[in-house]
Amino acid sequence: MKNVKMFSMVVLFTIAGSLANAQQKPKAAKLKKHVCTEACHKAGKCVLAHGEKGHKCDANCKKM
Ligand SMILES: [Zn+2]
Ligand SMILES: [Zn+2]
Repeated sequence: MKNVKMFSMVVLFTIAGSLANAQQKPKAAKLKKHVCTEACHKAGKCVLAHGEKGHKCDANCKKM
């Protein structure tokens, strides 16, 4: 029965590890780096899309 004990230990560590990862997600990591699009060229300046670094949410975000 030694193998069963080992297996449950591994399972416990895997669960604990994924829980720790889920709690330590920094908000900044979710932001994408801006990539210029057609909208940038049209506006004559960079138009930061929703979720891109430096973006500030406006009315257009709420529509989505
Ligand atoms: Zn741009
Ligand atoms: Zn936004």
